[in-house]
Amino acid sequence: MVGGAPDLLVVGGGVWGSWTALQARRLGATVQLIEEREPGGPKTTSGDYSRIIRHSHGEDSLLMGWTQRTLVAWKELGEAAGEQIFVESGVAWFVSGDGIWEAHSEQRMREAGVPCERITPEEALHRWPTLGTEGLTSVLYEPTAGFLRAGNGVRAAARMFEREGGVITRGRATPASDGSALDASGTPIAAGATVWAAGPWLPELFPQLVGADAEASIIPVRRDAIYFDAPNMGVGEIPTWIDEGLAVWGIPNDQDHGVKVGPEFDAGNFDPSVWPDEAHPTSIARARECAVRFPALKSAPIKETRACQHERTKSGHYVLDQHPENSAIWLAGGGSGHGYKQGPMVGELMARAALNNNPMQLPDRRFKLRDRSEGPSSPMGEMGLA
Ligand SMILES: Cc1cc2nc3c(=O)[nH]c(=O)nc-3n(C[C@H](O)[C@H](O)[C@H](O)COP(=O)(O)OP(=O)(O)OC[C@H]3O[C@@H](n4cnc5c(N)ncnc54)[C@H](O)[C@@H]3O)c2cc1C
Repeated sequence: MVGGAPDLLVVGGGVWGSWTALQARRLGATVQLIEEREPGGPKTTSGDYSRIIRHSHGEDSLLMGWTQRTLVAWKELGEAAGEQIFVESGVAWFVSGDGIWEAHSEQRMREAGVPCERITPEEALHRWPTLGTEGLTSVLYEPTAGFLRAGNGVRAAARMFEREGGVITRGRATPASDGSALDASGTPIAAGATVWAAGPWLPELFPQLVGADAEASIIPVRRDAIYFDAPNMGVGEIPTWIDEGLAVWGIPNDQDHGVKVGPEFDAGNFDPSVWPDEAHPTSIARARECAVRFPALKSAPIKETRACQHERTKSGHYVLDQHPENSAIWLAGGGSGHGYKQGPMVGELMARAALNNNPMQLPDRRFKLRDRSEGPSSPMGEMGLA
């Protein structure tokens, strides 16, 4: 701490900001987190009940490795916080499309020793009797994957950050022309370095860098989640699932929230300042269409719906980079439907990079603000699929 200013200021207490703050604190830095709402609050991208965490990343070994480390960190956080954050429900990839993504993922997982198995539709029906096997050619199953109790997990990370000596301030920060942070009265917030992790609000804060016309544009797009009241579809009775062919994913009923279904349907652009209370009617209709996979959902009552958004980049790869004109300023955003499964890893990378004023050592430029490389193909990223 120099002259009372923290070594690191983090703006935004979603999954990326909270983990960046916590990891920086664990590296011995003094850290302030400023959050306009509340960490993991309901009308933020990180605020839903659950998010999928799975190892499959097609041919992308980098992100698969990040997920392995991330999963360990989430489990350790749960143990330290005294609550279950990760639920090992298993993740089933129901193959009803061309199966190329799943084949690449299986190959990479086997090479890395990540548990996975390929099962027939008949075997899948035996394991999960509520399954509908129409159009299903095989299942790639990850028994050690599952889902995170998402909002709870972020709130636990924020509490842990405070418990370990970090400071959380409620307020809205805006960037000065050099990217450093100003408080609501326009006064500079002094800090050794600043990480902006403001999720879908990043484009309005940094239009030149991640606005609609920027190379690394982050576009908030509406994607909704529907919670169904359906029997015999809890953890242990069905897996967390993803069906790329049907463009839908789901999570078993957990803590009586209902069976969650996420149709891969863009319900328009999203202004995060005007967050709707409920899902778009077409999202609900699309979720019902997934009844091919779980017929009980065709007529199951709806318990709750949620409007959500993907803060999505063109390539589906994140933005994790240093401000081009101010080396003390960093941006972390563009989760593109994947931010949770690498939250602790992204936090560690951002914390180390910002505290050491040292760009990350990564194999390619896919996370850069400028001269971005495409990185490995990311069909799930383009779809925004979980
Ligand atoms: C429907 C849906 C399903 C998804 N499924 C998955 C999944 O299965 N697995 C997965 O890994 N990911 C998934 N994701 C993606 C994941 O949820 C996001 O990538 C992640 O939550 C983004 O976190 P964040 O911290 O970047 O942003 P946010 O959670 O939005 O956090 C940003 C924070 O910054 C604060 N803030 C904004 N502006 C300011 C300011 N000026 N001053 C102070 N504070 C500010 C906000 O209040 C907010 O708390 C999904 C997303 C959606 C929408």
